[in-house]
Amino acid sequence: MFVDTHVHFYDQWLLPDAEAAIQRALDEGVGKMIQADIDSHERPLMWEIGDRHRGVLFQMAGLYPGSVGEDWKQEMDMVMESVRVHEGRIVAIGEIGLDYHEGKEFSREQKEALRVQFELAAKLNLPVNIHLRDAWEDFFEVLEDCSHLGLRGNLHCFSGSLESYRRANRYGDFSVGIGGVITFKNSRLAQTVSAIPLEKILLETDAPYLAPAPHRGSRNESSYIPLIARAVAEAKGTGVDRIEEVTTQNAEKLFGI
Ligand SMILES: [Zn+2]
Repeated sequence: MFVDTHVHFYDQWLLPDAEAAIQRALDEGVGKMIQADIDSHERPLMWEIGDRHRGVLFQMAGLYPGSVGEDWKQEMDMVMESVRVHEGRIVAIGEIGLDYHEGKEFSREQKEALRVQFELAAKLNLPVNIHLRDAWEDFFEVLEDCSHLGLRGNLHCFSGSLESYRRANRYGDFSVGIGGVITFKNSRLAQTVSAIPLEKILLETDAPYLAPAPHRGSRNESSYIPLIARAVAEAKGTGVDRIEEVTTQNAEKLFGI
């Protein structure tokens, strides 16, 4: 059995086909899927689908950096409310992090929201699911400030260098979430993955985004996880069976699922 450690079935692109996509994933041996939380607008739908598939779908709680704006404190209150309402059923605080791709207008607020959510994860003894884009240096700054929290989690959609993976692990216990990017031609990720211990690797789609080859550019879904596993197996010079076994163990242990 495979685990998809990062997916959004409630996304408008995937939602109309979510039930069929969940079935296709199960048919391909993807037995557990973890939905990353974004913000208060998407959260009710995420739980509606999640509640229909208990034991198969698992949910996070968190405020996505791209959703951090002037109202971020109200959004944080709603994250706290979700934590209260779904007590014992939240598997991670995520996806949280920093994203400066659309600009740095709210960089100060994003860093503050990240810090608050790191503290929340530590308080609840939950892992964190990190989203990072064009913001590594500021991320390390916040992470260093929070190194006393004993954080654990994963760097979702990892495409960084071996050095950035190692640096994150100086301040906490971090795995990497490997997705469709590893299947792209000219991707340097395979080389980086070959040097990261298999015990620190998780599989994910980030569906509906970032579909692996040969579906690149079209809508992604959890049933493509075996394509990603095959690329990881190639990078590690081992069989898909071993990738399936170890990455599933890793996910079950980290998220307690
Ligand atoms: Zn995501």
